[in-house]
Amino acid sequence: MKEIVVISGKGGTGKTSIVASFAALAGKAILADCDVDAADLHLVLNPVIERREDFSGGKKASIIEENCIGCDRCIEECRFDAISYPDSGKADTPRVNHIFCEGCGVCFRVCPADAISFEPAVNGEWYVSSTMYGPMVHARLGMAEGNSGKLVSQIRQEARSIAEKENLDYIIVDGSPGVGCPVISSITGADLVLVITEPTLSGRHDLLRVAELTSFFRIPTIVCVNKWDLNADITGQIEQEAREHNVRPAGRVRYDTSVTGAQIAGTSIIAFADGDVSRDIRNLWNSVVTTLDGGAA
Ligand code: SF4
Ligand code: SF4
Repeated sequence: MKEIVVISGKGGTGKTSIVASFAALAGKAILADCDVDAADLHLVLNPVIERREDFSGGKKASIIEENCIGCDRCIEECRFDAISYPDSGKADTPRVNHIFCEGCGVCFRVCPADAISFEPAVNGEWYVSSTMYGPMVHARLGMAEGNSGKLVSQIRQEARSIAEKENLDYIIVDGSPGVGCPVISSITGADLVLVITEPTLSGRHDLLRVAELTSFFRIPTIVCVNKWDLNADITGQIEQEAREHNVRPAGRVRYDTSVTGAQIAGTSIIAFADGDVSRDIRNLWNSVVTTLDGGAA
């Protein structure tokens, strides 16, 4: 079993469309949507939810009104300004704003009246679903909720356990964009990272940032320039710089309006059209498989 993580320096590079197409091509595979802050693989693959679990990213404080003696210690000690009196003023008890609460537990420790509860908070849900291309693990994080890195780890762990149980060949991960905590959680320990980028100056810059990250974690990395024909010169420069950073260009995918057509139809490009862009993606997948098998396509 091999795990490939598809990432991009930023959102909107066409990463999810390529992951959905890989799902159509891979055969015995499980999908993991680890782009939890902007999950959209479910829009293309129409999963049917079979199992649903709560996700807790940490604890949050709440004030137990009947115990509160109004000493204000919690307000003074909270470094995140998460506790304040409601607009009705001091006649009321203080309240915790859960959007600002970072779950540090200081208020719980300093309260002299046992008036603060500090319990695991439900920040979202994760799901095991079935799709036309195999099982999929995905999630929904509550609005303004953090700790998406922990949720990403949970999704990957669940996908791995299902892949082992069902003897699947591939785990295909739609990774988080950027270079922050969620993307680090998406890539650590993976067999291969595929970076999807665009032929723009920011695409070139993003690739270099991502390449530094994957090189730090020593994960073999390949790159694909999506919509490469929109600027062949920059595509060439990106591929050249990629090689200089030990990132092998693994394929190019051309611009094609059928990609948008597939998104609107809620399906993969492979299922939607059998044109040049589908061939580009098939070639890219073949290159991924060859790389995972230890060769250089
Ligand atoms: S747990 Fe920490 S961040 Fe949250 S309200 Fe208490 S002191 Fe503030
Ligand atoms: S520290 Fe405890 S008793 Fe004091 S205001 Fe806060 S919740 Fe109330």
